[in-house]
Amino acid sequence: MTEQDLASLWESVTKPLLEVFDVRVFNPVVKTCSITLLTPEEIRISVDNTINKQFIRKYCEEKILTNIAEQTGIHPEKISYVVRPGSKERSKVVIETSEPQLFQPTKERKYSGELVANPHITSNLNPKYTFKSFITGTKNRLAFAAAQAVADSPGSLYNPLYLYGGVGLGKTHIMQAVGNAVIENDPSKKVLYVACENFLNEFVAAIKKGNPDSFKKKYRNIDVFLVDDIQFIGGRDGVQEEFFHTFNALHQAGKQIVMTSDKRPGEIKGLEERLQSRFSMGMVTDIQLPDQSTRLAILQTKCQEKGISLPDHILKFISEEVETNIRELEGALTTLVAHLHTQGGELSINNARAMLHGIISQHSTPRKSKVDVLSEIICNQYGVKREELLSAVRQREIVRPRQVLMYLLKHEVGMTYPMIGREIGGRDHSTVMHGVDKITTELKKNPTLLEELQVIKSAFYDAK
Ligand code: ADP
Ligand code: MG
Repeated sequence: MTEQDLASLWESVTKPLLEVFDVRVFNPVVKTCSITLLTPEEIRISVDNTINKQFIRKYCEEKILTNIAEQTGIHPEKISYVVRPGSKERSKVVIETSEPQLFQPTKERKYSGELVANPHITSNLNPKYTFKSFITGTKNRLAFAAAQAVADSPGSLYNPLYLYGGVGLGKTHIMQAVGNAVIENDPSKKVLYVACENFLNEFVAAIKKGNPDSFKKKYRNIDVFLVDDIQFIGGRDGVQEEFFHTFNALHQAGKQIVMTSDKRPGEIKGLEERLQSRFSMGMVTDIQLPDQSTRLAILQTKCQEKGISLPDHILKFISEEVETNIRELEGALTTLVAHLHTQGGELSINNARAMLHGIISQHSTPRKSKVDVLSEIICNQYGVKREELLSAVRQREIVRPRQVLMYLLKHEVGMTYPMIGREIGGRDHSTVMHGVDKITTELKKNPTLLEELQVIKSAFYDAK
């Protein structure tokens, strides 16, 4: 697509947002952005500054992606934001990807090249994840100390280092901090970070292309191997075999392996025993939610990093109210800043409470249980089994309830497409987006479905 095409695409896919946002927000924030690249692999959005980026990510991204998919048929796998050179933040042009962390091809490392000691090695590391920017408290100190020890002498102390804990608690941060510290200490070290899902995808692609050797070479020729969210390997037999050999080759050569997961090795479903025992042979340590005073310290640090100034009592309020994880804590901060940025005005506790209403109220019950509660209600309503609902079965009787679940998780629970995909049997975000769209369209012309949804919703709110 030419620059002209991309410009008119941006105009048409963002136009519907005018129904949601005032033109005083739309013009300076949305209209000033542009698409600089659009391929099935990636969409790259150029923004004026990080505040605008956060605003687009939080409030517009999903809608824009849906509209792009509708208009062009392209569902990019990865979304990158580039803060436009020439704006205030020129000194740190970085590319950041949306969650989950995605593989960044070599050429993109150039953007943060000055921060990566050895530009010939693609580490996929985000330079902002350092030990220095990680705040410790009693709940994460052990993991932090173990990671620092590993970074100081890779391959010799705890190998592998296995960090586990709930979502948004800093596992990826600590793991990447290991990589960044290793490179800082010794720029010749080859560090490779990979999200487990990307390892799986690359493996499958290599096999399909009949080119497993380059894959093997890539993953066996490194000094520090960082594998994020290793739980996704459970049940994937061919890949487990390959991973087992990669692990052994690296381990025997004294290379460091660090893994993160949301579960202990023994709790990963479908994980071969030999891998379970390999994963447990070094150091296994958990990360828990930091206590309130640590959460406050994290907020204060994030404010400093981002050049935000909010009164102390507001920060304290957020640290007390947001009790799920650090990602949400940051999200609350971003929401407040976005509101202030677009609406201005004084910030009182009551104001803050109102602005964070959606976020704070969601914390009364953990997300996981909301998925469970909704699934159960939907299973009862449609007479399907939970295993079927969460499986890959494509019969119409199952597909519809599953799409209803996706729709409600999106609109009633406020989960993102990738999060929903992960909850429902590891589906791709575009599948979820398609499911949600399907129900949205259907609702307009099918009153029975509307009624069904009302019933489910009221059962859901009664159950809460
Ligand atoms: P996980 O991998 O466990 O899901 P992440 O490492 O992605 O979590 O952390 C989510 C966000 O919270 C990141 O932006 C990370 O920098 C931040 N974060 C988590 N814990 C801390 C901490 N203790 N200090 C500073 N930032 C943190
Ligand atoms: Mg992570």
